[in-house]
Amino acid sequence: MKCQLCKSEAILRSPRLCETHFIEYFERKIGKFIDKYRLKNKKLLVTISGGKDSVVISYVLSKLKEKYNLSLEYFFIRLGIPYFTEKSEEIAKNVTDKIGYPLTIYDLKEKEGFVIPDIKYKPCSYCGMIRRYILNRYAYENEFDYIVMGHNLDDEVFFIFNNLFGKNIPQIQRTGPLTETIKEKKLIGRIKPLYYLTEEEILLYAKLNNLPYIGCACPNSIESTQKKFKSNTVFTREQKLNLVYSILEIKKYLPEEEIEIKFCEKCGYPTTSNVCKFCRTKEKTQKGELKQKRKR
Ligand code: SF4
Ligand code: ZN
Ligand code: ZN
Repeated sequence: MKCQLCKSEAILRSPRLCETHFIEYFERKIGKFIDKYRLKNKKLLVTISGGKDSVVISYVLSKLKEKYNLSLEYFFIRLGIPYFTEKSEEIAKNVTDKIGYPLTIYDLKEKEGFVIPDIKYKPCSYCGMIRRYILNRYAYENEFDYIVMGHNLDDEVFFIFNNLFGKNIPQIQRTGPLTETIKEKKLIGRIKPLYYLTEEEILLYAKLNNLPYIGCACPNSIESTQKKFKSNTVFTREQKLNLVYSILEIKKYLPEEEIEIKFCEKCGYPTTSNVCKFCRTKEKTQKGELKQKRKR
């Protein structure tokens, strides 16, 4: 199998490219994303979890920094999950050392007084909310333009199907490569530069560039159904891309979700209730209320 651009051996079937042309193609795709969504000269908060997606996007953005005049800060949240957090932090430090950047570490225990293992009931649903809250608050306080997320094409395909299977149409409105920053609402937008790249491409890019990423799973990841869905997915790259392009078109015809945004009485950040879920969770962990698994 030969590369579609030269006579060298191809390392991937779709797109059919050799090592050199694949790396060029991959980085060009991220560059096009920056152009398309006008991210030149922006201040970006890059969150590294230690997983392959965040590691790869951290590395590529550091390579494109000069060309696009990006201002970057790398951010790691110490969640306090035994072994997993230590391993992830080690990876995040390795990556930032490799690209010559400092790593900002946010210690959940030190700053907020609790860790994820204090939450026994559905820890993943709290963990996601907690990370989103911390990132948004930090990005707002430090005047970032956007938060960089590591979501890839396979994640988006999963998200779309999961919501379609659950007849959860309003959630579909939330898919997409970018959400806008609304400073008056203290909401910092999120960008997903890996949105049009598959997991296979990301893994290959990480391997070709000798990028370390965490090999072990968080002990709570069994809770997630995503892996099962992915392993059963047999769509081609083109089908996945067509699916997200179609959904992005359909989105234009869906009514905008009308959510009344208030500001939390305790922390002042956006919420739909009087006190935000983060503040309520913090209070509950202090009282030890989330220590017990709920009876079904
Ligand atoms: Fe957090 Fe769950 Fe992911 Fe573990 S698996 S890092 S608890 S969201
Ligand atoms: Zn080639
Ligand atoms: Zn709050």
